[in-house]
Amino acid sequence: MGYRNLKEIDIRGKSILVRVDFNVPLEEGEVRDDTRIRAALPTINYLLENSCRIILLSHLGRPKGKVVEELRMDPVAHRLAQLVAARVKKSNEWRGDLVKEELANLKNGQILLLENTRFDPGEEKNDLALAREWASLADIFVNDAFGVVHRAHSSTVGVATYLPAFPGFLLEKELSFLAKLVEGDLERPYLAILGGAKVSDKIGVIDSLLERVDSLLLGGGMANTFLAVKGWKMGASLREEDKFPIAKELLQKAEDLGKRILLPQDLLVTNDFSGQGEIALAEGTIKEDWLAVDIGPATLANFTGELKKARTVLWNGPLGVFEVPAFAKGTQAIAKAMSSLEALTLVGGGDSVAAVRETGVADSISHISTGGGATLEYLEGKELPGIIVLKDE
Ligand code: ADP
Ligand code: MG
Repeated sequence: MGYRNLKEIDIRGKSILVRVDFNVPLEEGEVRDDTRIRAALPTINYLLENSCRIILLSHLGRPKGKVVEELRMDPVAHRLAQLVAARVKKSNEWRGDLVKEELANLKNGQILLLENTRFDPGEEKNDLALAREWASLADIFVNDAFGVVHRAHSSTVGVATYLPAFPGFLLEKELSFLAKLVEGDLERPYLAILGGAKVSDKIGVIDSLLERVDSLLLGGGMANTFLAVKGWKMGASLREEDKFPIAKELLQKAEDLGKRILLPQDLLVTNDFSGQGEIALAEGTIKEDWLAVDIGPATLANFTGELKKARTVLWNGPLGVFEVPAFAKGTQAIAKAMSSLEALTLVGGGDSVAAVRETGVADSISHISTGGGATLEYLEGKELPGIIVLKDE
């Protein structure tokens, strides 16, 4: 089953409704990181070249069905206007008469960005009346919001059932990279690095990755749960005791499949999470009231040694509390090691991508995914509702 291809149809002069992922970080009323806006430009510019009238839909933050003034799309519109050679009008509504009026005044080659989709209580419930109203604004729907394709919302799924629906160019690019990791003949060894805070977020992906990878490197808070199962005394470190049984099962599954799970052999520990306290290294036993905040140097050497052999690498989840500079060494060193490989390298996940950017090596990674949850669910082998609706019958 293929996807419909936007380049194969005549879109000249048409009204196109585009779901984008402009859920960007804000700081004092301005866009702090415009990566996601830039990522949508290939699609937007193609539509502009074809003199389309473009109606953009996106959520921003978590307003939970209510108007939240700080989450209006104005800073996004402002930034977008600096990035495109077209007039960008921003609506103060996401549906209703004002939107219709503004659309009536929109000329070919202009952009209308609607207000935050999640201001509507129907959006996250895939309310079909809302979806129909959005669909009525345009001739064609394009979904370029990879970050939300795992969500069945009015703006991702509902609307696609009422209009001819196509993937945008960003979505196509994401899918073609991810497809390489789940099917076909990728180059081996294939190594995955998983970190981040919680095992519970990532059980599904650990489970399915075990079937595909040659080795799995675990770090960050989630590795604590596995280390505890192996008998480490973890002090006050983050861990999920209710996940001990599943962690055991996953270790057993790896053994049964002949796959290697590499856990940290030493950890950076502290008595103050904020970075102001004492710092030490620990192996096997962490003192009471102390907690693990990064991988240690021996682990880092081991992990980077493994990385050097790999030909395909997937990374999701920081290896420590990288937001605190004193605890960011492991994460940054892994980012650097990955960037110097002759391999297909993919990084996904909001925090992981932020870490790679902060390290300054983003340009040397084969693909930086704009999706976090969507990337993981895709890799788990789940059918993503926002993608199913874009497939040819
Ligand atoms: P991503 O957004 O890339 O998917 P996650 O959201 O799963 O990553 O995890 C990121 C978070 O995990 C960060 O906020 C980081 O501080 C936290 N984290 C990493 N290691 C630890 C640790 N040892 N203890 C507590 N939190 C950790
Ligand atoms: Mg995160």
